[in-house]
Amino acid sequence: MKVGVIGCGFVGSSTAYAMVLRRVASEIVLIDLDKKLAVAQAEDISHAAPFASAARVRAGDYQDLAGARAVILACGVSQKPGETRLQLLERNVKVFQQVTPLVLKHAPEAVLVVASNPVDLITEIVTKISGLTDGRVLGSGTILDTARFRSLLGEHLKVAPQSVHAYVLGEHGDSEVLAWSNAQVGGVTLAEFAEQSGHALNDAAKAKIDDGVRRAAYRIIEGKKASYYGIGAGLGRIVRAIRDDERTVFTLSVCNHDLKDYAPVSFSLPRVVGAAGVVSTLRPTLSAVEDQALRASAETLMKAWHELRF
Ligand code: ADP
Repeated sequence: MKVGVIGCGFVGSSTAYAMVLRRVASEIVLIDLDKKLAVAQAEDISHAAPFASAARVRAGDYQDLAGARAVILACGVSQKPGETRLQLLERNVKVFQQVTPLVLKHAPEAVLVVASNPVDLITEIVTKISGLTDGRVLGSGTILDTARFRSLLGEHLKVAPQSVHAYVLGEHGDSEVLAWSNAQVGGVTLAEFAEQSGHALNDAAKAKIDDGVRRAAYRIIEGKKASYYGIGAGLGRIVRAIRDDERTVFTLSVCNHDLKDYAPVSFSLPRVVGAAGVVSTLRPTLSAVEDQALRASAETLMKAWHELRF
C-alpha cells in the first residue's frame, strides 16, 4: 500500500521509520516544505528497508501521492519566541489550509491521519477544510495515552499490556480522562483482578499511574525536547489497520458533531478503524465522575476552538 507523509520532522520521519520496520507500506512518499530534509529523511529511512522490508521510501511532491490510501499529516510550524499558543495555532491553520486541498486533489480516496498537535483542534480544522465527515479524517488523539495507561497497568498488575482493556478519552492533553471504572483484564474488573492476583491497586498506585500517563509528554520533552518514537509507532499501527481493514479499536480523535451530551468538537473515544477510516464510534459506560470529566474535557477543547474563530 502507498502511504504519504506530509511533514517529515521528528514525528513524520519516526512514523515512516516505524512503517518500514513493521512492514506496513510498500511505498512511502515523504513531502516537506523543506525539500532537502525530505530527501535526506527518505535516504536515511530507506537504508533501514534492507533489514526489514521491501518498502520503497522516497521524497516526492503532492502528485506522487496518487493512489495513496492513507496520508499522515505531521506538518506544522513551531513556536517562535514570545508567540502565544493561539498565534502558533493560527499559523498552523494556514499550513493546513495549504496542505489539505493539495492532498485531497492528488489522493482523493486517502484516509487523512492527523498527527500534528494540538491534535484535537487540528483534526477539527482538517475535517472542516476537507469537508469529509465520514470518518475519513482521524486524529491520533489519545492512542498513545491509552497505550501508556495499559502498559503502566500491566506493569503494576504483572500482566501483559495486550491483555489490559483500558482507555484514555477526551482531549490529548491535560484534561484527558483515564477511564478506570470500565477497565478490564481477562474479562474481570481491575479491582477483581487486583484481588485475585494479589497485586493491590490502591489510591496511591492509581495516582502514580495517572501521573505516569498524564505527565509522560512533559517528562520526555524536558529530557529530549520532543517526543516521537511512541507516536510514530502508534501512527504506523493505525495505517496497518487501514491497510488490512482490521476493524481494530483505538482511541482516536474525530469530529463528534452528532454525539449528543458533549460539546461538538473533535476528541477521543474508542473507534473501530478499517479501510475507510473510522467506521464506528463506541460510547463507553463511565462512572458519573468520569462522564463529567469527559464533558469538561470536551468543553475545554470547545473553548479553545471558539478562541480560534476558525
Ligand atoms: P514534530 O516534532 O511535530 O515532528 P517538526 O518541526 O520536527 O515537528 O516537523 C514539522 C515539519 O513540518 C517540518 O519539517 C516542517 O518543515 C514541515 N512543514 C511545515 N510547514 C509545512 C508545509 N506547509 N508543508 C509541508 N511541510 C511543512
